[in-house]
Amino acid sequence: MVNSGPRQVRGGTASSGAMTQLMQGKRGLIMGVANDHSIAWGIARTLAAHGATLAFSYQGEALGRRVKPLAESVGASLLLPCDVEQTDSLNAAFAAIAEKWGSLDFLVHAIAFSDKNQLKGRYADTTRENFVRTMIISCFSFTEAAKRAAVLMPAGGAMLTLTYNGGQRAMPNYNVMGVAKAALDASVRYLAVDFGPAAIRVNAISAGPIRTLAGAGISDARQMFAFQQRHSPLRRGVTLEEIGGAALYLLSDLSTGVTGDVHFVDSGYNVIAMPHPASLKDETAANERAIVKDAAQ
Ligand code: NAD
Repeated sequence: MVNSGPRQVRGGTASSGAMTQLMQGKRGLIMGVANDHSIAWGIARTLAAHGATLAFSYQGEALGRRVKPLAESVGASLLLPCDVEQTDSLNAAFAAIAEKWGSLDFLVHAIAFSDKNQLKGRYADTTRENFVRTMIISCFSFTEAAKRAAVLMPAGGAMLTLTYNGGQRAMPNYNVMGVAKAALDASVRYLAVDFGPAAIRVNAISAGPIRTLAGAGISDARQMFAFQQRHSPLRRGVTLEEIGGAALYLLSDLSTGVTGDVHFVDSGYNVIAMPHPASLKDETAANERAIVKDAAQ
């Protein structure tokens, strides 16, 4: 089989495709790196490899200690604390960027949180407190960051957030996070309209499952990830490099005509209404074999 796509490297150092200078002269803020498995890190690494100058924000000092060496490895010198639950913290981060750089070309928002005890069971059992907290951190923080970033983009710019198909379709256990992603998808469209006249584009990447800290908070994540990988048209998961490549497109001048879009990087899983019956038969047979084996032990 001929595979003309990017090399599949998991958590490695290679970036997607040949190096270009597509991001040369562009400065951007990356929000949401927790470690080297974070989607934000995959994006940052690709953008830096294509010439971008980066600033990073981190949530709390413990994560800051992990982000620092990563930021340094791509030559970033601006490292800012920012807890998006605190307006003062957001204000301080953008004030620091205004002071150091004066302007910004792009923003990457890859932040989400919900109480993991509510990322299982029924959505109907979500508490009011967790609903509000999930919405503020996972959805409204993008609006708040975008508003502050737009002020720093007098010559136009590009913004990107990370979403998931659980905002468009019901997924087991995704629950309130799906509702937050639906609101995030809608805010991408409204922000695109608000900022379009200023030549600021706003898009989202809807990523297929990736093993990260946030991903692990969803109950039965392992089984759900495996199911999506088995039944997607490409029959595999996606890599950080592939998400990085899509981000490079959406944040560079390759996509100057694109805004308000939710772009799927999920091996095509979102187009599937039902897995092929043959693969379901294989799955049933494999499950039955496993049950017989368990019973025999
Ligand atoms: P991650 O755990 O590496 O990143 C989540 C980030 O959110 C962390 O850096 C964390 O510090 C940050 N965060 C949480 N609360 C915060 C707060 N109050 N203030 C500032 N930062 C805060 O996991 P990830 O999977 O890379 O998540 C990044 C984004 O990608 C999220 O929006 C997630 O929903 C989305 N996404 C993930 C997947 C997946 O399968 N992992 C799929 C689609 C979309």
